[in-house]
Amino acid sequence: MDAPAATPPGQVPAAPTFATVGPELFAAVRAAAPKRIVLQVPAGLVRDAHELAARLRTEVGTPVDVAARACFGACDPPSRDEAPRADLAVVLGHAPIPNALPARRTFFVEMRSDVGDPDAIARVVRDADLPRRLGLVASVQHLDLVPTLAVALERVGYTGVVGRGDRRLAYPAQALGCNYTGAEATRDAVDAFLFVGSGRFHPIGLALAVDRPVWSIDPFRGVLEAPIDRASIVRRRQLAVAAARDARRWGVLVSTFVGQMRMPSALALQERARSRGREAEILLADRIDGRDLEGRSFDAYVSTACPRIAIDDGPNYAKPLLTPPEFLMALGELPLEPYRFDTFH
Ligand code: SF4
Repeated sequence: MDAPAATPPGQVPAAPTFATVGPELFAAVRAAAPKRIVLQVPAGLVRDAHELAARLRTEVGTPVDVAARACFGACDPPSRDEAPRADLAVVLGHAPIPNALPARRTFFVEMRSDVGDPDAIARVVRDADLPRRLGLVASVQHLDLVPTLAVALERVGYTGVVGRGDRRLAYPAQALGCNYTGAEATRDAVDAFLFVGSGRFHPIGLALAVDRPVWSIDPFRGVLEAPIDRASIVRRRQLAVAAARDARRWGVLVSTFVGQMRMPSALALQERARSRGREAEILLADRIDGRDLEGRSFDAYVSTACPRIAIDDGPNYAKPLLTPPEFLMALGELPLEPYRFDTFH
């Protein structure tokens, strides 16, 4: 199996990455000699943002602004409009997306963790009698645990398989909420997947993408979570498709974030709708927000931005909100089964 590694041959070189906030980051930022820095953090790290900004100011000797908008992923770094004076960005909590790098110099700080006992996790897997061939997928925070976990699994009679994804993924075994192509590459060689990380966000996306049983284990707690009930999630999405089937007027949502922009796809979907006698209009936004859709006369929406907006937040929208493959299901151009995850390449 592969360890988390440098950019594979043929991929676009990634922006500088750092495991954690520390001397290595400060030295690299100093060497880049920025005139002004913008710091962006995900929602879970907002509490630490201002202390880190102060440290950056002291260590680098450069003014630092903090982006008030938390980032969802490496897909939405601060735009030029959000931070017009900064010539360097520091983005916390995400690996770069190699084929969607920001125009401004951006240093990604992945916040890698060294928590987790691979042998203890392997014993939990064995005692729970999981299938013998496991595909391993991890959040960026826990990628360093994957190589040792694969070895530990072997010691208890298991096989841990790691796949390398497409140009949107920086590392083997990496989970990205919109792209599980590394896991997809190993689907036929495994009986199930084990996600290493916290929460249900990635296990749900992984289960939709690979159509295999997905267990997860949080290295901080060492507790195995019940497998994702893929069938019930697919049923919910099929109900959303059914609710949009008779929609006459479609809003086609396009995000202007560097790693969420799919204008060519949006134009193609608009054309498909029109060819089926429906009306379709492109709606532009940086961050897709249901409040911006209130009071409009559309019957339903298709989002070409982050696929997880429709899947995870769709029920909170007043009108049906579909992913592009679901939109084609609603038009009758794709069958409801097999369900197709909206992989963002
Ligand atoms: S598009 Fe969505 S899932 Fe993909 S990196 Fe961005 S926020 Fe995450």
